[in-house]
Amino acid sequence: MVDSIVQLAESVRSGERSAESIATETLQRVDAREPSVRAFLHVDRDGFVAAAREVDAKRARGEQLGLLAGVPIAIKDALCMNGVPTTAGSRILEGYKPVYDATVVAKLRAADATLVGKTNLDEFAMGSSNENSAYAKVHNPWDLDRAPGGSSGGSAAAVASRMCLGSLGSDTGGSIRQPASFCGIVGVKPTYGRVSRYGLIAFASSLDQVGPFATDVRGAARMLRVLAGRDAHDATTLDAPVDDYEAACDLPVKGLRVGIPREYFGEGIDPEVNIAVRRAVSCLEQFGCIVKPVSLPHTKYAVATYYVLATAEASSNLARFDGVRYGMRKEPGPDLRAMYGATRDAGFGPEVKRRILLGTFVLSSGFYDAYYLKAQKVRTLITRDFDAAFNEVDVLCAPTAPTTAFRLGEKTSDPLAMYMSDIDTLPASLAGVPAMSIPIGLTANGLPVGMQIITPHLQEARAFAVAAACERHDALHVGAPPAFA
Ligand code: GLN
Repeated sequence: MVDSIVQLAESVRSGERSAESIATETLQRVDAREPSVRAFLHVDRDGFVAAAREVDAKRARGEQLGLLAGVPIAIKDALCMNGVPTTAGSRILEGYKPVYDATVVAKLRAADATLVGKTNLDEFAMGSSNENSAYAKVHNPWDLDRAPGGSSGGSAAAVASRMCLGSLGSDTGGSIRQPASFCGIVGVKPTYGRVSRYGLIAFASSLDQVGPFATDVRGAARMLRVLAGRDAHDATTLDAPVDDYEAACDLPVKGLRVGIPREYFGEGIDPEVNIAVRRAVSCLEQFGCIVKPVSLPHTKYAVATYYVLATAEASSNLARFDGVRYGMRKEPGPDLRAMYGATRDAGFGPEVKRRILLGTFVLSSGFYDAYYLKAQKVRTLITRDFDAAFNEVDVLCAPTAPTTAFRLGEKTSDPLAMYMSDIDTLPASLAGVPAMSIPIGLTANGLPVGMQIITPHLQEARAFAVAAACERHDALHVGAPPAFA
């Protein structure tokens, strides 16, 4: 199978390949690769093949096929898919089958994509390694002893191991970009409000955003074009026109001002990540970009700010999981309150409980001003840092994460160490600006390094131009992991 979403879709649209043959090949790959990667919580074999047949039938009827015709795409299990088990990686939703499609799922179907199944994640998208999933560990296709990143680790690992060419993730504080970086693929967190969250199981509503993973930049651009836009079901979506992100991949980058935020290259950065990002930036200089250092002075407060705001919002969002409406229920006796308590105690894992406790605490009267209100103010300062930087430059380039993929188990006993791995992705989330991660090389021990490209609100197209320029440079090329080529 070709490695590019655009090429694959065009081969189906032209009739050169049937969607069904691609589905068959995809399932063979899943059977061979999934036992070592474990990216999926549910493979929707029947639905997937039926969708592929329907794409072929549509073509046979002479109808024009959509932009993602016959492209196998996997869906993070935090997104609802009609009739397909959806767990958010949690026991509390075991057995839950949504009765509707998330808007992004419906949009992929309308573009004639074929949906392979649901991918593993940290429980309720809380985590940076996928190890908080209540179900299984996902293995990084570049080194099976390492974490794929999180929380959308299954979606990233499924694409990296080429069990599909694209997938959907959600990013609250880095959950698309960090796993994309760890798995050597492209991941895009769009502007807050660019893509509908209707049908996304909410974690922190002022931060959550859905976005694509793909094997290459152009594939991600095509997916975002399909996904983006106003949705009557999600009042937070923006009513701005959707750019042709694919065409943006061919735009020149000469003369573009590229800012290098010095705070992202400080303490804790792996020297090989530092070197790789600087090499990518010098490639952009060769293309005629004007590179200059900038400062985002409040970056150091992003982790603290995020873990106050995100936990506060999560404590409120997760109140709905009470054993009454969805998933599992534990009934120790006839008492309703005891049922709530027993269900939530059995249904939520330790990280989710930690966050509910923390979030409830920071919102409680007497502590609200000291924590939640203060964090909101710091969030504004972080947003202003970006506004100021974007007065001077058109785009920011920085590491996506301070390190490459860490070993499974390496950080599980130390939640703070795990939280610190989000240090480079949290600021853009807090500011609501778009940011994507692209692979820019491998370390000496063969692990991919990601570079983050951050642009002003709704300027995703500019980031795609920069990303595509990098991808065209031979020195920055990263293919599939050797074991899954
Ligand atoms: N790793 C961060 C967290 O644990 C971000 C997760 C996300 O973006 N969903 O909250």
